[in-house]
Amino acid sequence: MKRVGILTSGGDAPGMNAAIRAVVRSATLRGISVVGYLDGYTGLVENQFVELDDRAVGNQIQRGGTFIGSSRCKAFMEPEGRALAAENMRRIGCEGLIVVGGDGSMRGAQMLSKEQNILAAGIPATIDNDVYGTDEAIGFDTAVNTAVDAIDKVRDTGESTGMMFFVEVMGRTSGAIAMHTAVAAGSAGVLVPEEQEELTQLVKRLRHSIEMGKRSHIIVVAEGEEAGGAFAVGQKVGAVLNHNYRVVVLGHIQRGGKPTMRDRIVASQCGALALDRLADGKTEFMIGIQRGQPVEVPFDEVVRGQKPQPRTDLLRLALQLAG
Ligand code: ADP
Repeated sequence: MKRVGILTSGGDAPGMNAAIRAVVRSATLRGISVVGYLDGYTGLVENQFVELDDRAVGNQIQRGGTFIGSSRCKAFMEPEGRALAAENMRRIGCEGLIVVGGDGSMRGAQMLSKEQNILAAGIPATIDNDVYGTDEAIGFDTAVNTAVDAIDKVRDTGESTGMMFFVEVMGRTSGAIAMHTAVAAGSAGVLVPEEQEELTQLVKRLRHSIEMGKRSHIIVVAEGEEAGGAFAVGQKVGAVLNHNYRVVVLGHIQRGGKPTMRDRIVASQCGALALDRLADGKTEFMIGIQRGQPVEVPFDEVVRGQKPQPRTDLLRLALQLAG
């Protein structure tokens, strides 16, 4: 193998740059050159790329976002788009592709390999941590740490003023960020899409803890939870309790910032092994992390697998320790 491509696709996640660096530096050791396709599958279809050597990926390991851009690309959903992408790759002698992204991006990579005979590997990156076959996806740890840090700050004002805070974290279909954040930030309540606590139960618990003298209450709400997000929940609960409350929506702040140690390590492990396996001629696999070690997971398993089990144990722990 002489040349491979890499792209970052779907929602951006802190640590994607560390993955690109790991792929490029591992490729250099094997005498393989790397091109970075710009803005996800869009760059592949429109033939927009940059050469990436060891120096091009220097000073990137600590940076959030992705310096080669990411996007959602409709054209790549069609066979014609994928045929054009493969043709563009062949023209510059690119024999393999490494895709850094979520489960949709893994599906795209699998289709490209099946239809066009291009070697394809995936690296899971999504702050929602909802890719099957990996314990951790790049970006998740950073997003949770950002949410916890924000809540620590909100709690200061909550404690000073006695106000109740409803903090909305990302997660349209996955409560992973919310559940981990709730335990680590010591929240009084948590609402997630996977398992709905009755609002009446939440109100009951909050009323009890107010009576017991608890002054600051943080309730973590995943954006996709059933009752309609933090504004809707805050309005309902605040009205029933007749309690002063505020809503904080963390939004895209959770996507940004420098990746944590954990995300840099996950990205480095996955990037290095993905390149090695691809260079050995393997295809249609993702490198996931299982029990701390990078492992190969066939795309078939990744795309057919159910969503990872939600950590409802954490949800229960958060409630158990809420006081
Ligand atoms: P994520 O990878 O974060 O889950 P998406 O699901 O939006 O994000 O997927 C990112 C991109 O991957 C899409 O815009 C599209 O270009 C490509 N993609 C997703 N699903 C498929 C599919 N079934 N076939 C081909 N390409 C796909």
